[in-house]
Amino acid sequence: MKPADTDCSSDFPDEALLAELDALRRMLATVDKPDCAVEGDGLVIMRLCSGLTLPEWESLRNRRDLRDWMALPLSANPFPYLTRIQQTLKDLVFLSEHDPLTKLHNRGAFERILAAELIRSARSGQSLALVLIDLDDFKLVNDTYGHPCGDRVIATMGALLAAEKRTYDYAARIGGEEFALILPGVGLVRAEGVIERLIESARSLRIICDGVDMPLRVTISAGIACTKGKLAITWEKLYAMADDALYTAKAQGKDRLHSAPIADLTAPPEKTLVRADEKRFLFTGSIKG
Ligand code: GH3
Ligand code: MG
Ligand code: MG
Repeated sequence: MKPADTDCSSDFPDEALLAELDALRRMLATVDKPDCAVEGDGLVIMRLCSGLTLPEWESLRNRRDLRDWMALPLSANPFPYLTRIQQTLKDLVFLSEHDPLTKLHNRGAFERILAAELIRSARSGQSLALVLIDLDDFKLVNDTYGHPCGDRVIATMGALLAAEKRTYDYAARIGGEEFALILPGVGLVRAEGVIERLIESARSLRIICDGVDMPLRVTISAGIACTKGKLAITWEKLYAMADDALYTAKAQGKDRLHSAPIADLTAPPEKTLVRADEKRFLFTGSIKG
């Protein structure tokens, strides 16, 4: 689009840069989606203008009404800028996958991780436990001590989960006062031991809220569902089993756990992702057996 020997440095006339931007604008006007200024998905087109400083660009932009053109500073040593961009991208990725109050995984990340870990479990034949955890009578905390105190309780519970889980377990906040633990490689008996201890740790919490004289006590209920990794199971199915178990724990009086029957022993086999005849076709090109 532009001869290789030109640049847009400060000794390069403004007019050359304006001509290039104009040429790009005209080229874009001829393609199907010409309006670069509207909201929605799109593309940012970038080119390095070596030597052009941000103040020079801003002066030119103000004089020539170029507000729809964005400038991103880079220098011969782009390291500080690239580091900043890299950090911003990292922050955005973290925000998209984590809950701001507890810093645990959010609902979307939880579903994605559970689906992936279940595939791994079915492939390796290793157990996996899913635990759904819900604070008991939490509405009462909000109603009695206020929403900020409720938030403090949720954050404290999140910190407890983060502290008690193993490095390779996943802890998520999947709803208002609902949490989940994904425990790869853990079978039913071990999961029950871990969650009994967690319920005990929650009981011994003493949570201090501003303006509340007495430290608050909380209890939790938990529903556990496990797979032995012998059969493929969808995350929705395992989730529904853990949710039913949690409901039973609540119905039986709260501050306790309840376990679903082991998924592989009760579930009919899920459809495999690739059928035998499709597999044959993929590997041999033939549909005959
Ligand atoms: P149960 O023992 O049966 O679970 O009863 P509960 O009172 O804990 O359950 P319920 O679902 O009735 O109440 C959950 C409450 O959680 C209702 C809602 O206002 C509150 N909540 C949801 N998200 C937040 C939040 O981010 N912060 C605070 N402070 N409260 C929240
Ligand atoms: Mg709830
Ligand atoms: Mg609750």
